[in-house]
Amino acid sequence: MTIGVDDDERAFPQAEDGKALEESWLQICSRLKGEVGEVEYRTWLTKIALGPVDGDEITLLLPTRFLRDWVRSQYGDRLSELWNQVLPAIRRVELQVARPGDPAAPPLALATEDAPVAAPSIEVEEAPRSAPEVRSDLVTTLDTRFTFDTFVVGKPNEFAYACARRVAEKPSSVGFNPLFLYGGVGLGKTHLMHAIGAELVQSGNVSVAYMSAEKFMYRFIAAIRSQSTMEFKEQLRSVDVLMIDDLQFLIGKDNTQEEFFHTFNALVDAGRQIVVSADKSPSDLSGLEDRLRTRLGCGMVADIHATTFELRISILESKAAASGVVVPGKVLEFLAHKITSNVRELEGALNRLIAHANLFGRPVTLEATQDVLHDILKAHDRRVTIEEIQKRVAEHWNIRLTDMSSARRARAVARPRQVAMYLAKQLTSRSLPEIGRKFGNRDHTTVMHAVSRVAELMERDPAFAEDVELMRRMLES
Ligand code: ADP
Ligand code: MG
Repeated sequence: MTIGVDDDERAFPQAEDGKALEESWLQICSRLKGEVGEVEYRTWLTKIALGPVDGDEITLLLPTRFLRDWVRSQYGDRLSELWNQVLPAIRRVELQVARPGDPAAPPLALATEDAPVAAPSIEVEEAPRSAPEVRSDLVTTLDTRFTFDTFVVGKPNEFAYACARRVAEKPSSVGFNPLFLYGGVGLGKTHLMHAIGAELVQSGNVSVAYMSAEKFMYRFIAAIRSQSTMEFKEQLRSVDVLMIDDLQFLIGKDNTQEEFFHTFNALVDAGRQIVVSADKSPSDLSGLEDRLRTRLGCGMVADIHATTFELRISILESKAAASGVVVPGKVLEFLAHKITSNVRELEGALNRLIAHANLFGRPVTLEATQDVLHDILKAHDRRVTIEEIQKRVAEHWNIRLTDMSSARRARAVARPRQVAMYLAKQLTSRSLPEIGRKFGNRDHTTVMHAVSRVAELMERDPAFAEDVELMRRMLES
């Protein structure tokens, strides 16, 4: 039986432990920032203040319940993990709303007389009194990676790009206000908005506010809670350019929509520029109030289309070049063929390859790519059909699709046809007679011959083998 207090069970009674807490928190903050990105970090996580420690549990304080719930649901687990990694004595994190009556500085229980511990560089919103900071905050939330220079232009986005440039050069021009950018996820809407913002801020003299519709709602609600809606409105209405990202978020949020509508009108009437993005065109955003949809459609509506193979290649080339890692053309082609969903995923895949190459100091090859991206590629895999194989092979060797089943026997036609048969055998579960039928009712022995002929050629001719391999990887399921 032990008598007295077990050392391990005491929290942090000494001053240096307060320091340790503070330092740990700084470390955690910097890691979180790296993980979630500057914008997220500023929006949510800078609002956290350190609270008291009780045993192995630390309390983190947030100014509002809304924020507390959000941080808990989005970052709760990660915060616990990080605390535990950085300071193993902490095993649990409790998130609480700071009471308005609390002293302005968060009650960091461990502060001692001689070493008062202030909340480390974490700003605490003195909830009810301070009005939300709009402008300064909004300018700094711009992501510096998203500029016009780093935006790769191609057919699917050239119109949106041109409109964005135009607004950045001459905000509030007739016909371009509001600018409404729309398109699917990961196609560059946010990138273009930040680029407009960056350009305008650089040109000076213009105040720019950028926020997601979600953040707009959060701020609006926070303002209502703290009875500072007037300040909120005034601050918003004093900017020269207001950009709201992902407007579809406001669907079903009637009060916030209403507020946005009034802000919108006030700004446009005062000759200020509005830029809005959404996943659909104004007319397709059912669930938004009609009068808002009508106004949104009154300026310039620019659509960003799904990427094309060419654009994907250009984007990959540009990002690979910027990374300084040599990525062979074949690998870029392979990625552009495989990951067609959106630029974000394409970029994610390339970044992973590059990180891998840097980490292990190995060159990027097709094999390594398949290996490193195994999970991503699998998610994008589909069952390949004989028709698809024929189409891809015909495209690659520049022959007509009909020649896959024609009787022509010229080598320029017969060889690709044999490759297609070979791939059909490799990649589908079709029998030789079935494959034969799809190639203009050829006999199964013809297919068999094609398969062994291609295998033989691949052994003899490495360039040919590589071609066929590339084709296979692209089609593979
Ligand atoms: P959205 O807002 O439409 O969902 P984002 O603007 O967040 O998409 O783009 C997702 C990612 O893809 C970002 O990292 C962005 O920089 C990148 N990206 C999208 N389009 C392009 C492009 N045309 N050129 C370069 N990068 C792009
Ligand atoms: Mg976006």
